[in-house]
This record gives sequence, structure tokens and C-alpha cells, in this order.
Amino acid sequence: MFDLATGDSSKAINPSKQNPPLGGQEGYRVVFWRVWEVFLCLVEWLSMQQIVRTDYSPVQYAQKNPHEVFSPPLKCKICKRVGRLHRHGIYERNVWDTKVLVIAVARFLCPGCGHTTSLLPQFALPYRLMALAVVDAFFRAEVSKRSDFGWSSLLHRYRRRWEKWWPDLRRKIGCFFGPLSLEDPYGVWIKIGDREGCIAKANRILVEKFTLSLFGQYVIHSPVDFSG
Ligand SMILES: [Zn+2]
Repeated sequence: MFDLATGDSSKAINPSKQNPPLGGQEGYRVVFWRVWEVFLCLVEWLSMQQIVRTDYSPVQYAQKNPHEVFSPPLKCKICKRVGRLHRHGIYERNVWDTKVLVIAVARFLCPGCGHTTSLLPQFALPYRLMALAVVDAFFRAEVSKRSDFGWSSLLHRYRRRWEKWWPDLRRKIGCFFGPLSLEDPYGVWIKIGDREGCIAKANRILVEKFTLSLFGQYVIHSPVDFSG
């Protein structure tokens, strides 16, 4: 755990209970985490990615390291080779739940083509810091209450991305989640989460079935032909 404000790795930040940071401080922190997200994009772009189901919360996951017993993927999405991929270490990344956590993400190597696949736990978002549960709480909150969230500037970036992406996502998935309005992205978000039991599961299903996520379409989920 790392407290950006104090540099103290033993303290945790609670975004939902903190008072909103001062403007200058928040600006600094948002810039820091935006830079961190760009760095995360570079790290996660290096592997194919699957979203893996886990019933652990982010805190439990960080403590118990269930990535060590995740089953290897049974097929390489790059070369289509069938057979278990080999364990190939981990990479570490932050997830922001009720505090900043460091989690380990398992990587697997295809002996056929040499490409790697990572298994991101479903509570985390590809390329993004905030846990889906935090985003979900923010989107469900009354508009007037959203500024009560610490780090709301970062969450507002996610909000703008969802508003922009939802019409495209709707066109791509049709009525997979039932008839949903183009005009009410937050009502849609809540309906999708309620329908699937939680928004993290909905995101995992989107990646598995459509190679799409709640915030975009990423090359790490879509097979790419490297044969030239
Ligand atoms: Zn392969």
C-alpha cells in the first residue's frame, strides 16, 4: 500500500471517506495517477489479457494472492494453439478500492508462439486505477453527492469516458443485456450491474464474449494476427 500524500507505504487512503482534497493537491494527485495509468497501459499492452473470475475483494486478493492457483488458460489467443499455457511470473499493479493496493497479476507463456497472457481479476479495470466497485458507487451516487468522493476528478474522467463509449458499446453488443436506453448511460450502467449481479461480472462477460470492456475496446483482448 502506498500513500501518495505522505509517501507512507503503511497508510491507506480511503477515497469514499476522505474529505475532498484541496484543489491544488487534487490536481497534483490526479496528474500523478494519470501518468501512472499511462505507464500501466504500457505494461499491460505487452500481454494479451483475460479477465478472471474471483470472489475475493481487492483487499482479500492482495492479502491471499489467489493468482498463484489460477488455472492457466487452455488456449493461446494469438496462435490458437490448444494446451495449457506455462506460468510465466507476475506483474504488479495498483488498484484503488478503499485504499491503494498492490496486487499481483499472473502471466502465462505460450510455448508455441512465445506470447504472454495475463489474468486480471475481475474487480480491476484494464489500464485504469480505480476498482470497478468504486466506479460503480460513484456512478450510482446522486450527482450532488459525487463531489463528496475523494479523487473525484479521476472518477469524472471515467464518467466522461463512459458517456462517450456507451453509444458505441450499445451498437456493438445490441440487446445482449436487454433493451437499454442510449439516452441514460447511468441508468444503463445500474441495470447492467443489477442484471449480472455486479458490474465486475458484467465487464468480465463483455471481455469474454465480445472482447470489449465497459470503457473501451482494447487490443489486449482481441486476437491480433502477428503472422504478417
Ligand atoms: Zn501462442
